[in-house]
Amino acid sequence: MKRTDFDVIIVGAGPAGLAAGYVLAKEGISVAIIERGIFPGSKNVMGGIFYRSSLDDLIPDFYKEAPIERHIVEQKFWFLSEDSMFSTGLRSERFNIEPYNCFSIFRAKFDKWFAKKVADASAMIINETVVKDLILEGEKVSGVRTDRPNGDLYSDVVIVADGVNSFLAKSLGLGKEIRTNDVAIAVKEVIELPDKVINDRFGVSNSSEGVTIEITGPYFNNMRAMGFIYTNRNSLSIGIGAVIEDLVRLKINPNDLLEILKKHPAIKPLVSGGEAKEYMAHMIPEGGYYAMPRLYSDGVMVVGDAAMLVNSIHREGANLAIESGKLAAKTYIEARKKGDFSKKTLSSYQKKLEESFVLKDLKTYKNLPKLLEEKRYLISKYPKFIIDSMYEIYNVDRVPKSEKIRLIMNRAKKEIGYFNILKDIFNIWRSFR
Ligand SMILES: Cc1cc2nc3c(=O)[nH]c(=O)nc-3n(C[C@H](O)[C@H](O)[C@H](O)COP(=O)(O)OP(=O)(O)OC[C@H]3O[C@@H](n4cnc5c(N)ncnc54)[C@H](O)[C@@H]3O)c2cc1C
Repeated sequence: MKRTDFDVIIVGAGPAGLAAGYVLAKEGISVAIIERGIFPGSKNVMGGIFYRSSLDDLIPDFYKEAPIERHIVEQKFWFLSEDSMFSTGLRSERFNIEPYNCFSIFRAKFDKWFAKKVADASAMIINETVVKDLILEGEKVSGVRTDRPNGDLYSDVVIVADGVNSFLAKSLGLGKEIRTNDVAIAVKEVIELPDKVINDRFGVSNSSEGVTIEITGPYFNNMRAMGFIYTNRNSLSIGIGAVIEDLVRLKINPNDLLEILKKHPAIKPLVSGGEAKEYMAHMIPEGGYYAMPRLYSDGVMVVGDAAMLVNSIHREGANLAIESGKLAAKTYIEARKKGDFSKKTLSSYQKKLEESFVLKDLKTYKNLPKLLEEKRYLISKYPKFIIDSMYEIYNVDRVPKSEKIRLIMNRAKKEIGYFNILKDIFNIWRSFR
C-alpha cells in the first residue's frame, strides 16, 4: 500500500498555507504545515493592511479576538513632487462601522494567532523545518523532503505556499524565472510614537481608528515605486517598494529610497520625533496575471504569493493568499471524494480561482504592469502636471483665472502634447479591456 504520513502537506505557514490548513483540519483531514521560521509570522513582512472579508468567511468576527492594531477609517493616495503633495482618498464613517473593512496588523503577532487557531482545529504545524525539495513518484508529487534527519514526508497532495519566488513551483517547471520587471523589493520601518501623537497627526479621534497613505509620483525619479504609511496603535509602519528593474537602472537601493521618502516635507512632520524599532525587507510579486505560474499539477497546487497572486494596485495580497488557500483546500476535499489527485481533477482549483474575485481582479489589471513598464512617465509626468496646475490655481497673484487656465493648457500642449494625452487615455482604457 502507498505510504502517506498526512493527507495533505502544506509548505509555508503564511496566510495562504494557514487558510488551507484551517479548512482542511476543520473537515477532519490530517494536515501538516511545514514552516521554516521559529514560529509562523517570524519571517513574514507586510505593510500591514489586512482586509477582513476573506478570513471572516473562515472565522466569523475574527477581528474581535485577533491581534489587530487599528481599523482603517481613511485611505489616502498621495502624489509627491520635490516640494509638493497632491492628495486624493476617502474618509468615511461607513469604514467606522463593525465589522470594518480592513485593519493595520503586525504579521509576527497576527500569523502566530492565526496559526494557533489552525493548530486548535487539529492541523500539525511543524516549525523550524525547511522543505528542500518535492518528492515525485513518476510525474506525481507525493511528498516533501525536509532538512530534518529522515525528514521525508508523504501525502496525497502538497500545497505549495512558500511565498514569493517559490523555488518549489520552479523546481516542478510550473513557475518561470521571475523577471526583474515583475518583482519589487520593499523595505519597511516601524517607528514608535505615542498613540495620542498619532491620533493628532492623522486626524483620528481615538486609538482604534487608523489611516493609510499610499504614496507615488515624480519625487521618485520616474521609478515604479510605491511608498506607504500606516497607523498602528503606538507606531507607524512606513515603507517603500520599487520594481527591481528600476532600482538597478537607477543604481539606488531601497533603503536610500526610504530615507528619501522620510525627508519629503509632507512626510517628515508625520514621523518626526519617532523612534525606529524594526526594519524589514521583502520581495513583492507585482507582475500580475501574466506573471502567474501554472497553478496545479499531479498531486500539487500553488497558492498565495508563490502563485504571484498579488493585486499591487490595491495593495491586496494577504487576502488573495487566504482566498487561494481556501479554494485549494476545497479542491482537495472534492478530489479526495473521487480518490483522484491527478492534475485533471486538481484543475478545478484554477476554475474556482477564475470564478472568484482573485483572478477576476488580476485579469482586470492584467495589462497594467506592462503598460507601466513601457510608459513609466504615466506615474510621474501627469501627477507633476496636476501638481503644477493646482499650484497655479491656488496661488493668488493677481493673474486672472482665465489667463491661468490658458497657461495650463499651453503647458499641457508643450510638456505632454494633446495627441499624446489622447494616446495615453486610449492606452489606459485599452489596458483595462
Ligand atoms: C513590504 C510589503 C508590504 C505589503 N503590504 C501588504 C498589505 O498592506 N496588505 C496585503 O494584503 N498584502 C501586503 N503585502 C503582500 C502580502 O504580504 C503577501 O501577499 C502575503 O503575505 C502572501 O502570503 P503567503 O502565505 O502566500 O506567503 P508568505 O506570507 O510569504 O508566507 C510564506 C511562508 O512560507 C515559509 N517558507 C518559505 N519557504 C519555505 C520552505 N522551503 N520551507 C518551509 N517554509 C517555507 C515562510 O517562512 C513564510 O512563513 C505586502 C508585502 C510586502 C513585502
